[in-house]
Amino acid sequence: LLSSCKESKKDQKDLDYWSTKLSTEERVADLMSKMTLEEKVAQMVQYVGLEHMKTAENNVSAEDLETSDAHAFYPGLHSNDVAEMTKRGEIGSFLHVLTTKEANYLQTLARESRLKIPVIIGIDAIHGNGLFSGATIYPSPITMAATWDDDLAYKASAETALEMRATGTHWAFTPNIDVLRDPRWGRTGETFGEDPYLVGNMGVATINGLQSEDFSGSDKVVACVKHLIGGGQPITGINASPIDVSKRTLLEVYLRPFKRAVKEANIYSIMTAHNELNGVPCHMEKNLMTNIMRDEYGFKGFYVSDWNDVRRIDIWHHVATDFKDAVRLSVDAGMDMNMHGPLFADYVVELVNEGKLSQARVDEACAKILEAKFRLGLFENPFIEESKVAEQVFTTKHQNTSLEQARRGITLLKNDGVLPLKASKKKIFVVGPNANNQTTLGDWVSSQPEENTITILEGIQDLAKEKGDQVSFYDVGEYGLEITDTQIAKSASYAKQSDVTVMVLGENSFRHEWDKKTTGENMDRSTLKLSGRQIELAKAIIKTGKPVVVVYVNGSIIAEEWLEENVSAVVEAWEPGSFGGQAVAEVLYGNVNPSGKLPLTIPRSVGQIQMIYNHKPTAYIHKYYNESKTPLHPFGFGLSYTNYTYGTPKVSSDVVTKEAPVTVSVSVTNSGNYDGEEVVQLYIRDEVSSVTRPVKELKKYKRVAIAAGETKEITFELGAESLAFYDFNFDYCVEPGNFTILTGSSSADKDLQSVQLRVDEKIMFN
Ligand code: BGC
Repeated sequence: LLSSCKESKKDQKDLDYWSTKLSTEERVADLMSKMTLEEKVAQMVQYVGLEHMKTAENNVSAEDLETSDAHAFYPGLHSNDVAEMTKRGEIGSFLHVLTTKEANYLQTLARESRLKIPVIIGIDAIHGNGLFSGATIYPSPITMAATWDDDLAYKASAETALEMRATGTHWAFTPNIDVLRDPRWGRTGETFGEDPYLVGNMGVATINGLQSEDFSGSDKVVACVKHLIGGGQPITGINASPIDVSKRTLLEVYLRPFKRAVKEANIYSIMTAHNELNGVPCHMEKNLMTNIMRDEYGFKGFYVSDWNDVRRIDIWHHVATDFKDAVRLSVDAGMDMNMHGPLFADYVVELVNEGKLSQARVDEACAKILEAKFRLGLFENPFIEESKVAEQVFTTKHQNTSLEQARRGITLLKNDGVLPLKASKKKIFVVGPNANNQTTLGDWVSSQPEENTITILEGIQDLAKEKGDQVSFYDVGEYGLEITDTQIAKSASYAKQSDVTVMVLGENSFRHEWDKKTTGENMDRSTLKLSGRQIELAKAIIKTGKPVVVVYVNGSIIAEEWLEENVSAVVEAWEPGSFGGQAVAEVLYGNVNPSGKLPLTIPRSVGQIQMIYNHKPTAYIHKYYNESKTPLHPFGFGLSYTNYTYGTPKVSSDVVTKEAPVTVSVSVTNSGNYDGEEVVQLYIRDEVSSVTRPVKELKKYKRVAIAAGETKEITFELGAESLAFYDFNFDYCVEPGNFTILTGSSSADKDLQSVQLRVDEKIMFN
């Protein structure tokens, strides 16, 4: 008896959720067996960080506080109450905790609760842990996509995970795998562009970098794909406006990257979108959240709402009678965590007690969230050592990755030969609103220490010194909107006295100066033109007749055809991150041969939208009466200082089967004078199909280094799945028939050469 008693005591101890000897599943089960309904629901509750709330509390009047973002819907909510709730174990998660001190403080509070469950802290670490002051800022996602370099995206994300953990956060609200089809959307810079395949690759690389296999370990974080779904095609161009797309487009375009995030990278969290989808707010889209993502694709993680969006099912969308009804609809659809605010938990508990929500739904949500906390090792140690932060953040290694990404992402759009600049005691005049500020850092970034950022002006100054050139700079202010007549006149006169002018124009997505933003979240555009008086500044400088190089710094896209025609060179620097200024200068001087390629089409005007390279055959049968129907720059385009000559592609077999992929090979010769890197692209076209198919679709690409004079044979393995689509009956399959395989340097017909491939029998996929 004694021995069996001892045995059962041992069992009990072993079954304790604190024991690392148990599997994660056993620990979750044990902990949940000890939790009340209220405690389980608490895991579904997220609040914004206390300091974030306090900033508003200290800086705005009581009246304005009611409309400030953290307090908006919850009059009377105070950060002190939130601290008390944490102690009582009523909060499972926080977002936007911006200091290590606060991260440790919140974990200390959570340790005081009955079950001592740590909080999981999420943050918008979109391109580096940018909301943390002192972090490495990698180029924004649109810049990363312009590198067409998945490995580098992986590396940057793995480093971001390290910096996050070092500063006390465990969950990155990234990658944004929205496929962009309307560049008026201010969030263009947060996306990987317009192509589902490129977006999918970048997304998978980012998730793998952040999460690795299963995010266990102290250097990994949970990733979060967003936003489910369709936000990249808002009906008005404005964030959160309705999305109205067919089932076919949803499956072919928007869901493709999400499917891959689940199937190829085991994504562990998904954020639903602000917008509605075909009449149903995404936060209650059960078919999408549960039937498709969970049951069909196999999503095993948890959902988080976007900012206050469960509440908005009621107050924005008007499809719930009140907040409680909205909570019912959302949680029933599959929502696991509510981003910010009270009442949600009370309502879930009430709804379960009233039999209007299943206990099983709460158990599922709670178990998934606890699983993340266990796997992240938060029960063992939720704290961070503040003294170690400096060793792990903004390290030389991370700085180099950021710089390398910027070098590869910068895209040369025009060059009449003025670039690379030849060093010859030249006078270089630098001017423009984005020449000497932190717009290079992009959106989702707090103001960073000056010594951590190289502005474009600083980059040019440093390199010019080495080259023996002189640089002068005239400050027209940071925002194109405020340029005065005097500044325009003075700029022109300085340009006249110089050999070349570098005009740094563009937009800004500064989060810390909200009212000055011209792009970024909730700063959408009804134009693709430069904001404010930038074009007037440019015109005056161009009039001097001296050579002008335009450098764009922007997360959106700029379509200024006249400007491009009248300057010598155009460099699209995007938002190139902490060392963007250095990378731009290296490109201008030719220390780096530009190799970025556009991850989206640049139309000539807003009126051409929706303009995408993978459009349907009839999109351009007719023409516009007033404007060309071609883009300003095609998808996949980007110049170099050298020339690449492509051979005709060859296939290892004319026929592809499910079992036997073919090899497509193409020779590329660097026929110019500079060593370079080229992004070789492969597109397909299904010649005849049961429903209409795009005129071409990207299926493979490779970035390769080719020395001047060298020829390389580039090979791609092309499997049948690359040819698959949703047929007339919505079966995912390859239909028999002919396919054209195109290889070359951009998506433009003139840059592509082709070979034929055949499929003899219908091939089915899941
Ligand atoms: C954005 C999300 C972001 C969240 C938290 C929302 O407004 O749409 O992408 O993760 O805020 O900052």
